[in-house]
Amino acid sequence: VCTVLGAGAGAAVGLALLLAHLRRHSVEGRLLRAIDQDALDVEYQPVVRITDGALVGAEALVPWRDRDGRMVSPVRFIPIAEENGSIGRITQLVLRRVAADFGDVLAAPGEFRINVNISAADLDNSRFHASMAQTLDAAGIARERIGIELTEHSTTARDIAVSGTKRLRELGHHVYIDDFGTGYSSLAYLAELDVHALKIDRSFTRTIGTDAVKVSLVPQIIDLARTLGLQVVIEGVETEAQRDWLRAVDYPLYAQGWLFGRPMPAAELRALLNAQR
Ligand code: C2E
Ligand code: MG
Ligand code: MG
Ligand code: MG
Repeated sequence: VCTVLGAGAGAAVGLALLLAHLRRHSVEGRLLRAIDQDALDVEYQPVVRITDGALVGAEALVPWRDRDGRMVSPVRFIPIAEENGSIGRITQLVLRRVAADFGDVLAAPGEFRINVNISAADLDNSRFHASMAQTLDAAGIARERIGIELTEHSTTARDIAVSGTKRLRELGHHVYIDDFGTGYSSLAYLAELDVHALKIDRSFTRTIGTDAVKVSLVPQIIDLARTLGLQVVIEGVETEAQRDWLRAVDYPLYAQGWLFGRPMPAAELRALLNAQR
């Protein structure tokens, strides 16, 4: 009986794996087609100064509206793109779109900055550096107007991260560690990376304004940033209570989150920007 059950379970696991494989395979095919057809959307989420809510920049994000309008989160398809090597094309697509959507704003004098997310694989890819140079130069966009976000997870290849972020900094980009607090960076590593800013992951933001704030690590991370002279962006601010708590912090903070604006099409962000002027 045991043998029969075992074989049955084995077959079920095998079938589940096969289905997962097929599903992934079809996601992969559709993703590559979407890249070929330049059919990925790029949306922009406002970044604001916490004290007065002023719009200081935006983060470019790539939601993917699959056939039949279904949304596929980048959390699902970016890892696939990193594995099959198409991530470089996604990064290029986003940069080109940023230049097309906001080239005029970014080429004019000002502080407004747009951040793009890159993957560790981009960092030591000479084609990434070349195509970014070409895209930005053609649009007349100075490097300091483009922020580069790198997740703490993707900074595990230490040598590459250190030399790659250094190169970006020397070119003039603002460099951010994304989802800070969820990875495994040591303090020594953080100092060596020498970035401009930390983006505190929204899993920490959630504890703000609740009793858990007593044990929250947010004040500690802000102190760390103060010591290292880094800017801080808080991700995922959803409530006024969270905003008020952050306003009371004695350090200049920036924030992103649904309270201030969801990721939106370029035209909507433009309207916000114009309204502020
Ligand atoms: P991330 O860079 O940390 O982006 C922030 C994510 O949090 C976005 O999800 C955004 O929509 C979401 N978010 C913002 N405010 C709130 C809020 O108040 N509440 C909640 N619940 N969520 C909020 P999204 O667009 O699904 O992106 C997820 C991740 O995918 C990004 O995290 C980033 O790591 C990656 N990603 C997105 N676009 C790109 C890209 O162009 N290239 C690369 N390499 N990765 C990307
Ligand atoms: Mg990001
Ligand atoms: Mg983030
Ligand atoms: Mg994130």
